[in-house]
Amino acid sequence: MQDAWAEKLSCATHCHRCNLKMAPDNPRILSVISHEAICMSCKDQEEKRADYEQMSKQMIGQCLIDTEIQWGDPQGYCYHHFYPFTC
Ligand SMILES: [Zn+2]
Repeated sequence: MQDAWAEKLSCATHCHRCNLKMAPDNPRILSVISHEAICMSCKDQEEKRADYEQMSKQMIGQCLIDTEIQWGDPQGYCYHHFYPFTC
């Protein structure tokens, strides 16, 4: 599990949703739906979904089980679904 998400957190060069090119210092965030790195405008769209809150809760529960990392750990996989990061 560690390896799988570390890879997603690493420098994606493009948004997985809209294919926007992303520079290493462009903020990106993980989708609560696909768990891929997406750009901030795609995240805005995602947050407008009617099921966003439900998807978020589901995702938090699952990622705590998968990673066994404390919620709120800034190094954690869970955290990066809600806080943008750069490379
Ligand atoms: Zn995008």
